[in-house]
Amino acid sequence: MSGKITEKIPYGFVKHEKYDVVVMDSEKMESVKLMFSLCLDGMSLGQIKNVIESQGIEYPAKYKKDKIVGWSLAEIRKILSDPIYGDERYSVIAKEELEIAKRMLTLNTRVIGKRMEVSALVGIAVCKECGSFLVEKSVSTRGRTYLYYICGKNKKGKGCSMHKIAVQELDEKVLEEMRKEIGDREVFRCKGLTREIAIGYLKYVSIDSAGNIKVIWNT
Ligand SMILES: [Zn+2]
Repeated sequence: MSGKITEKIPYGFVKHEKYDVVVMDSEKMESVKLMFSLCLDGMSLGQIKNVIESQGIEYPAKYKKDKIVGWSLAEIRKILSDPIYGDERYSVIAKEELEIAKRMLTLNTRVIGKRMEVSALVGIAVCKECGSFLVEKSVSTRGRTYLYYICGKNKKGKGCSMHKIAVQELDEKVLEEMRKEIGDREVFRCKGLTREIAIGYLKYVSIDSAGNIKVIWNT
């Protein structure tokens, strides 16, 4: 996109006062960044809608002039799927983040309870057998809740096998691999694998049913 106006302007951009180009509306772009960060944390579209509405984030009003209708899930999805926000010229979000956001939309994740975000490898860890992304499953026994990654296809009841692995176990394995391969301080200093670090460094992590991993790095 050259910046010239050819079609409907994406949320967060406005038409320049004088020239036939679009420029960023920094306040709205902050809202876009928030939406992406909530999506990357694993919130569902409905949860994202609740947050942005509770913060009074301005609705793209010009599309529905007369009545206040609030955000629709389709509009939020449209923003989160628009490659323009990963365009280096605008540096709204990193390309890797855009890629994971796209995956999160297909995974229908939802942050449950008081947790602030999904486990580090959701949208990154892939079942080696069927190629589906692993998703979270929580299991409660004797008042304690344990978190696992399992094959997304299996969770939907569509076959494959469970590939169940404890979140902590897989996260530690991956972090260990990162420490071998990547010399960055951030990777050495963190106490555990965070979502931010995972998204920053890892393109995919493939896991077989025996728990062996293969990492594909972001380049
Ligand atoms: Zn599978």
